[in-house]
This record gives sequence, C-alpha cells and structure tokens, in this order.
Amino acid sequence: MKRRLSILSIVVTFVLLPFWNNGYSQTHSSRTSSGVNLNMWLGNPSNATTDTINQDNYLMVKPQYTLSYNNTKHIPNWVSWHVDSTDLGDFKRNDRFQSDNTLPVSWYHVKPSDYAGTGFDKGHQCPSADRTYDSATNEATFLMTNMIPQAPKNNEIVWKNLEDYCRTLVQSHNELYIICGVSGQGGIGKKGAASSIKKGIVVPAQTWKIIVVVPSKLHVVTDSTRVISVLIPNTQDCSKQRWDQYRVSIDSIEKITKYDFLSSVPVAIQKVIEARVDNGPVN
Ligand code: MN
Ligand code: MN
Repeated sequence: MKRRLSILSIVVTFVLLPFWNNGYSQTHSSRTSSGVNLNMWLGNPSNATTDTINQDNYLMVKPQYTLSYNNTKHIPNWVSWHVDSTDLGDFKRNDRFQSDNTLPVSWYHVKPSDYAGTGFDKGHQCPSADRTYDSATNEATFLMTNMIPQAPKNNEIVWKNLEDYCRTLVQSHNELYIICGVSGQGGIGKKGAASSIKKGIVVPAQTWKIIVVVPSKLHVVTDSTRVISVLIPNTQDCSKQRWDQYRVSIDSIEKITKYDFLSSVPVAIQKVIEARVDNGPVN
C-alpha cells in the first residue's frame, strides 16, 4: 500500500503537475493555453492591430480581456474574453471606473465623468461579475476602454439578464468564449435620443453579443456547439422584450458589422453554426 502510494505521488508530481501548471485554468495573469490567448480564441474579427496608425481598430491585449478600440468613436468596437468557473470568485465590485492610461498618450482618454448626466450608463462590455477572482482582475473591467454609452434599460435589464444567464452556464460545467460590441450610431437613453455624449463619445445604435458554449476543458468547437448571439437596440424600450427574443444568427451580425467572427474555427463549421439561431434554454 505504501509503495503504491508513493508511486502514485511520483506520477502526480512529475507527470500530471507539469501539465496542470501549464493549464489555462491556473494562469489568470496570462490566460493562455499552450501559448494561445483564450480571450481571443475565436479570432480577431476586424483584424485589429497594435499599430497606432490603425487608430480606429487598435488592438489592446489585456490579461483580463482583449479589445479593438476606436479612437474616433472613443469606445471599443468589440471586446472578447473567456470565462470559466475559476474566474467566478468572491471579490465584490468597488465601482472604481477609471481612464485607461495604456492608450497612446496623444489620444483622448475617456473619463468616467464624460458619461455623467448624459442619460446613458457606463456599460461594461466584459462584465465585472465575470472577473471576480481577485481585486486586480475585477478592477481591470472598470477601465473606460471597456465601456460604451448604454441605454440604462439595455444595460441594467436585457443585457444584464443575458450576462447572468451566461454565468449559470459556467456554473453548470461549461466555459464560454464571448465577444460583444457595437454597431451604428444613435441610441435613446434616459434623457431621450442622442448620437453622442460628451467629448464626442459615440452612442451606438445597437449592442451585439456572441457566446460560444463549450463543455469545460474541451476546447473544441464542432457543428453541434451551442452558440448564442443577440442583437439589441440601444434604447430604453428594448426591455419590452426579453434577451432571448433578440436572438439572431452570427451571420446576420457579420452582415451588419462586416466582421468575420469565429475566424479561428474551420470554415465548414463556421458555415453551420453561424447560420443557426439558438433556441436552447434561456434560464
Ligand atoms: Mn452592464
Ligand atoms: Mn465567421
């Protein structure tokens, strides 16, 4: 018995542990699996780059999420991230919204006060509640490069209910690859219609989100993988419908945005799952 135990411990220590330590679930700071950034595992739909000349499609890779920033609109074009159960901890949000000082110095750095009194929320793209592992991780979601002017009833009701549903999927042994963003210009907030707020920050007409649901640790997308995608007006009356009533195909979001989503997935599989409109459970 003793001998078997020690053989077991040798196996655990030298055979399994190195794999475990290289595993993505342990690496909150880098969030990679064999060198792949899981926050962008589905691809870079707009071919964003870190070249500052590309100022309206500027790639920002953070440990917590990846985004394409638009320096003309002063909002992200899209934000992409990965969530598994290890991301969901006990840390409580402290609402410390702040400018993102990693933007090029000559660009305008949006301040939390630019949203004050506008009738629009500072709407998180990567939600605070998806990053509750520790304080540093959570605080990164409060950077203004992760915000858009979002109609309060979109942010606090429709969008929030979908965010909450997503976390129930994580709790039931899935991991999620999520990308969300904006299209068009002009929304309706608490004080009526607006095409922009202070400093010319663009109010999007619509918010969209794509969620790829993969059983934990599988890292495989097949033609039967569940994909939930929604397109929601950025207006106060959007909450007359539930989030699930806004489900559309990825193809229809590609048409509006001109982006190629899921570009790292084989084309034959993209064809199938991007044409489908999810009709799975919604709570
Ligand atoms: Mn929100
Ligand atoms: Mn595609």
